[in-house]
Amino acid sequence: MRDFSYHRAGSVDEACHAAALPAAMLLAGGTTLLDLAKCGVMEPERVIDISHLQGLDNIRVDAEGASIGALARMSRVADDAGIRAHFPAVSEALWQAASQQIRNMATIGGNLMQRTRCAYFRDPAAFPACNKRAPSSGCSAIGGINRNHAILGTSGACIATYPGDLAVALVAFDAMVHLGGRSMAVDDFFLLPGGTPEKEHAIEPGEMITAITIPASPAARRSTYLKVRDRQSYEFAAASAAVGIEFEPDGRTIRDLRVALGGVATKPWRARAVENALKGKVLEPEAVRRASLLAVEGAANHGGNHYKIELAPRVVARAILNMEGAA
Ligand code: FAD
Ligand code: SF4
Repeated sequence: MRDFSYHRAGSVDEACHAAALPAAMLLAGGTTLLDLAKCGVMEPERVIDISHLQGLDNIRVDAEGASIGALARMSRVADDAGIRAHFPAVSEALWQAASQQIRNMATIGGNLMQRTRCAYFRDPAAFPACNKRAPSSGCSAIGGINRNHAILGTSGACIATYPGDLAVALVAFDAMVHLGGRSMAVDDFFLLPGGTPEKEHAIEPGEMITAITIPASPAARRSTYLKVRDRQSYEFAAASAAVGIEFEPDGRTIRDLRVALGGVATKPWRARAVENALKGKVLEPEAVRRASLLAVEGAANHGGNHYKIELAPRVVARAILNMEGAA
């Protein structure tokens, strides 16, 4: 681990100013930053501590929706009564992420900014070739062990999976991320790798996440998050789905449907083709299974991850059908 300077920011403006300096990095809960600094992936020269900043950990839920400060801890948001009642998929996604100890430390802003779990990315000493960590050095995963890698949104430069859970639910329900001076859809905040996999987020030096907001909707209120993984806890998703549904007054016909996938794509992946295929239709198992296959349209198989092409539609279908009794 290298030497770095430590600065305790006195305000958001001061933190943003300091974060614009070369090799400066914000420190919130530290559960990602310290990990990656120890393995040599992140090499901050200046660490800007924002963990104590006042007013950035509020959680508010009203008729318009939810507003969650960037420094709110994952466990607090997961357990918030308003979030649980109006955005159950958000609460469930958080509960199924990481461990209780990590959720108690980790913040919502840091969660959105977490990096891929690609083993080649996280081991610079053994694997110098990684376009995300060292641009133009190559990709060790494409011809290597890629069982956990993405099938959607990949490029010839990088096939790393976006690992987070929360953002999958946020993308399903049209959440916005606020960066102080500007705001954007969470969906646009996450970038596809294309030829520049090192640039993962639409955040610029000198900006920080201050809050996220999620608009209220009947589909968000009747929602769930299903996560399938190699072991039942403390594990990243092999495939996951955030699903929300609103029925017509007959209680059977789908008026609104939201579907987003995790664990299978290079960013949180909204499955609009599945939504469009089922809106206006009666919720019926065979139609749901057929429509769910559209979730993996255009998927690319890299060898080890081929099983996700079959797994992802099954997870989507199961999540939607789990909502059947919710009509
Ligand atoms: P930090 O480590 O403080 O920061 C992370 C990054 O975000 C840094 O680059 C930092 O500069 C930047 N940053 C922090 N706050 C801001 C801000 N407000 N604005 C802009 N940039 C900011 N996540 C899941 O979703 N699902 C899982 O199953 C899961 N399992 C995990 C298992 C382990 C063992 C570990 C270590 C982590 C796991 N995580 C999982 C990831 C975990 O959720 C993140 O580490 C955590 O959310 C990061 O939050 P933090 O506050 O600790 O961020
Ligand atoms: Fe690096 Fe992406 Fe290839 Fe992993 S998949 S080795 S992160 S370029």
